[in-house]
Amino acid sequence: MVGRRPCIEINLEKIKNNANCLVNYCGEKGIEIMGITKGVCAHLPVVRAMLDGGIKKLGDSRIQNIMALRKAGIKNPIYQIRIPMISEAKDVVFYADGSLNSEIEVIKALSGEAKKLGRVHKIILMVDVGDLREGVMPEDAVSVVGEILKLDGVEFEGLGTNVGCYGGILPSYENTKILVDLAKEIEKKYGIEVKTISGGNTATISLLEKGRLPEGVNQLRVGEGILLGTDVTNSRKTPGTVENTMTLKTEVIEVKVKPSYPIGEIGRDAFGNIPVFEDKGPMRRAIVALGKQDCRIEGLKPVDPRIEILGASSDHMILDVTRCPEVEVGDVIEFSMDYGAMLSLMTSSYVEKVI
Ligand SMILES: *Cc1c(COP(=O)(O)O)cnc(C)c1O
Repeated sequence: MVGRRPCIEINLEKIKNNANCLVNYCGEKGIEIMGITKGVCAHLPVVRAMLDGGIKKLGDSRIQNIMALRKAGIKNPIYQIRIPMISEAKDVVFYADGSLNSEIEVIKALSGEAKKLGRVHKIILMVDVGDLREGVMPEDAVSVVGEILKLDGVEFEGLGTNVGCYGGILPSYENTKILVDLAKEIEKKYGIEVKTISGGNTATISLLEKGRLPEGVNQLRVGEGILLGTDVTNSRKTPGTVENTMTLKTEVIEVKVKPSYPIGEIGRDAFGNIPVFEDKGPMRRAIVALGKQDCRIEGLKPVDPRIEILGASSDHMILDVTRCPEVEVGDVIEFSMDYGAMLSLMTSSYVEKVI
């Protein structure tokens, strides 16, 4: 099926294989994979491909995505992986089996709603080991667990951490080991079993390969590695997986030879930046019908290496096609993408999703 343009063409077979490859690789080492679906807005065919690839447990950051998965009949355990808002506690308990958390006030709200619904909601307490996004500081973790254990309606399932997302901190043996050490302390102090140690995301697979993942970590939450076969934090491919699972197709709406340096006084562009240009003389330029409203342009790469992206405004992306004399109005130009570009394209309602 050819959709309207622009469209993002998704190869489900590749995604299924990526999921399968990582499930097996991690499974052999006793590590479960939570398949993270937020990168594709929990697009159902992609989620099904992940499940077909052997993923058993899902995670998404947005309650709307989780609700959509439930409405589509997905029965697998689903966790909300963005720490919940108090205002969404009721939905989180209703639609998700568990959630990642860092605030006792929120956990109390989840407990209250779970009691009303007669359910038990699973809590993974996030510990901040240095990336400075979500999580309690390590020195506070043991006492917060004590607080969680006093609450009905919630079950303390384990500890989690996330690196490589905000602060760009790389996963290491040392920062991941903090979780395992805390889990031991918690088990000793409260006489309970810490069932899950959720050691990180795609980037943490690198520790596993090097034999540097601390013993005791038994879960990784993986999105990018499955969806794109890449690991942006370590700027590499995820081992064993394939890339180019998704291709953006855009249509050319103008092709003209124009100067490469704008004519007139330069003020600010549509986004308030003062643009800088290099005068390369006349240039064959193409415009495709896609812009910053649809996509994080910096994350796109033309499949044809002779094409270069010059920039974009909200609805127009401008390409240097000087070395591609055959490009004409109405032609389709293809791009590969990184995580940020995928995220924006999947979110844009102007971009058709084609399987
Ligand atoms: C997005 C996210 C992940 C998945 O990260 P990838 O790099 O896509 O594997 C895991 N955990 C949390 C908390 C996240 O927000």
